[in-house]
Amino acid sequence: MYIVMLGAPGTGKGTIGKILSNDLNLVHVSTGDIFREQIAKGTKLGKKIQSYIDTGALVPDDVTIETVKSRLLEDDVKDGAILDGFPRTAAQAEALKGFLKENKPNAKRVAVELDVPDDEIIKRVVNRLICTNKSCGAIYNKETKPPKEEGICDICGSELKKRKDDNVETVTKRLEIYHQNSKELIDFYKKNNALYSIYPKELDVAVANIKNFLDEYRRK
Ligand code: AMP
Repeated sequence: MYIVMLGAPGTGKGTIGKILSNDLNLVHVSTGDIFREQIAKGTKLGKKIQSYIDTGALVPDDVTIETVKSRLLEDDVKDGAILDGFPRTAAQAEALKGFLKENKPNAKRVAVELDVPDDEIIKRVVNRLICTNKSCGAIYNKETKPPKEEGICDICGSELKKRKDDNVETVTKRLEIYHQNSKELIDFYKKNNALYSIYPKELDVAVANIKNFLDEYRRK
């Protein structure tokens, strides 16, 4: 099953995506993580996309689509994946549809939309701290979910950092871009796939509801 996580930045796509990935044994594929890794490694792709990420703009569709297609051809995602942060435009959604139709014609496809009010998103994002250990990647919030020891991950003991683009100015731009594309994207998934929308107010409740929906969908 391929699960597309839709939602503005800071709605919990990463947090919920990682929990679902563990519980459902599906690889979590985040375009943001892939791009940040390329930047950190200083690759040709990383250099090309850095300015988009730093300013909160979208990386161009052609670059993003190619990146995702080559990731989805890898062996660990041959039976499914959780896509976090992709698609973000109607063109990306069309490209994904075409790719899956051609390469995984029997795979189930479903979309989950996390819908959170903008003012809450801004608070979540500017207070977000992320574990620098890539294989952990735990997400904290300075106000609502602080680590036990300041700056240190409870789970693996690695350093916690703020993402460079998690500031009010950039998140406002990211939200604006999200709202420009979201209606078209949501309509696309309503038409083409099963779509489940939820306001993830409490994490445990949201995860349980999403898992129920996915279970029912899988049995159909
Ligand atoms: P995220 O970690 O999902 O918040 O993504 C961080 C940044 O990566 C975004 O602000 C964009 O600059 C870029 N990005 C991630 N996914 C995409 C996508 N599907 N299309 C275009 N740009 C993306």
